[in-house]
Amino acid sequence: MRPLAIALITGVTLMVSPLAGAQTSPPPPAQQNPSPMVEGTRSHERLAPTPLGGMSRSFAGPAGKPVEVWIPDHAGTRDVVDLVVHFHGTAWLPQQAVARVGSPVVAAVVNLGAGSGGYHRAFTDPAAFDSLLAGVEREVSAAGARPVRVGGVTLTGFSAGHGAVRAILREPRHFAKAHAVLLLDGMHTSYVPDGTVIDKGGALDTTNLTAFADFARAAIHGEKRFVVTHSEIFPGTFASTTETAEWLLRALGLRRTRVLLWGPRGMQQLSEVRAGGFEMLGFAGNSAPDHVDHLHAMPELLARVLGSTAPGNSGTNGHSRSDSPEARRQVAVTFDDIPGVAMPRSARCDRKAHAEMNRKLLGSITEHRVPAFGLVVEGRLCERERGALPAILRMWLDAGLDLGNHSFSHFDINNTPLSRYQADVIRGETVTARLLAERGRRLRYFRHPFLHAGTDLRTKGAFEKFLLGRGYRVAPVTIDNQEWVFAEVYAMAKDRGDKATADRVAASYITHMKEVFDFFEKLSVQVIGYEVRQVLLLHANPLNADYFGELARMMRARGYAFVSIDRALEDPAYLLPDTYAGPRGLSWIHRWASSKGMKMQQEPREPEWIAGLFRGEAARGR
Ligand SMILES: [Zn+2]
Repeated sequence: MRPLAIALITGVTLMVSPLAGAQTSPPPPAQQNPSPMVEGTRSHERLAPTPLGGMSRSFAGPAGKPVEVWIPDHAGTRDVVDLVVHFHGTAWLPQQAVARVGSPVVAAVVNLGAGSGGYHRAFTDPAAFDSLLAGVEREVSAAGARPVRVGGVTLTGFSAGHGAVRAILREPRHFAKAHAVLLLDGMHTSYVPDGTVIDKGGALDTTNLTAFADFARAAIHGEKRFVVTHSEIFPGTFASTTETAEWLLRALGLRRTRVLLWGPRGMQQLSEVRAGGFEMLGFAGNSAPDHVDHLHAMPELLARVLGSTAPGNSGTNGHSRSDSPEARRQVAVTFDDIPGVAMPRSARCDRKAHAEMNRKLLGSITEHRVPAFGLVVEGRLCERERGALPAILRMWLDAGLDLGNHSFSHFDINNTPLSRYQADVIRGETVTARLLAERGRRLRYFRHPFLHAGTDLRTKGAFEKFLLGRGYRVAPVTIDNQEWVFAEVYAMAKDRGDKATADRVAASYITHMKEVFDFFEKLSVQVIGYEVRQVLLLHANPLNADYFGELARMMRARGYAFVSIDRALEDPAYLLPDTYAGPRGLSWIHRWASSKGMKMQQEPREPEWIAGLFRGEAARGR
């Protein structure tokens, strides 16, 4: 890996080959590290050092270079402190960024010179990072005159500093310890052959990038937080952060959303990707000050990493998570009946209204960083509108979310001949499977409409065998609920322009969901001895488009971390026997209870006034 000559905050080193004068053939590509262009298109605001309080200490770290530690007030009075380790950049700036986060987090800053190779080499031996952590614990303990342990670690790197981050992440113990990573315009690698740009037939040397891809996957699953920023700088002699970002997105099967947004320090954001706890932000600019902007944006970007909505966190502060993530509640959120259900009467066949509803719902899902799972009913749209389905499904995939099959026609297995029901499952694969295949993925989950799984064990078993044969796993539900009733009544109120009722229904919906969570949390303990990693059933409907954000806050307030359905189903409870056969669509917790011979308990119902409105609507033929 070629060292980066992009240097620190002051005095950016340029490696420029001035073009020769008169030439008959085109000049060879100039090295531009970064572009030598002088420009004033952006403001390039700069932060200044401010007094931070707390205490600064320093000890000799890797390569004999100082590790500059900032310890906030009161950190020494705790048994465990969280730590941000920053690589590359004058110490006061990352320290200021950490101080602004507001909770007691210790900052340690390491500078090892201009090249990423030096950072990588310094941490190739995992003992180097162990010794850094031990040094920080020693300094914080000395500051408080009592033993203090380092808990969660966030690794941040500007420019060449990413070399240290990737070397540290290669050690599985350190990968596990790192809760979060922030890379500020610094995910580079070499070309293969060395110095040969992609346009001239070169490729990226991806060996240096795999640790970041692994961390990104964990972030997408809600287990980590990973924010990557990049500029448009094209160094020429080694791969740009744009090129490595493109590689990473391809590896993850994600796509950018184009945006035009103001960033910190007058930066201009051009693209973004959000999937679970993973975020990539692309910014304009190909000059040295554009590069340095990323470091000066660190206070805002670090707040984003450690902020209130980091997935996998129980509290309101992302960095105060407990040391044992398994102790926290976890839930996978699933949305049935995509592209939409319980739409207002006027929008039943309206593709634009469906697209808009999905856009709004997905905005809320991504804002709360929920690695949600969607279940598609390809026949849901009116026939003449079905051409709109691929675009709607792509919105889900572009948001980094996964999709499963919920049949084409939403038939009920309890009153449909099995052969017809199975043919409908196959028909329901058509568009979804194609769109997944475009991204190198496949359909992996099926969910039974109405959660009906068969009234007799023979039908149930035969259908499960059919699913296995087509490569499906059943997508179970533990938190079943009456959300669909609220959604119908909500749509009805909207149809009439009755805002007061719509608001009351929405408030009652959130209350109902609290009762439902309470019920299934307790039931899980009674039936299996602990709270299972829950799977929540919701629907793609206007009620959730408007109120999923509030629901997400409710779940977080109960201490839930949002996880993918894959992650939830790693809970061994999902291997428990399910021998229930009968007319009811049931939570899997009820099924496990029934299989154990336990008596089934009554779930919370919607309030009578909601039920009354629903019955009235049903009578009018809604
Ligand atoms: Zn359904």
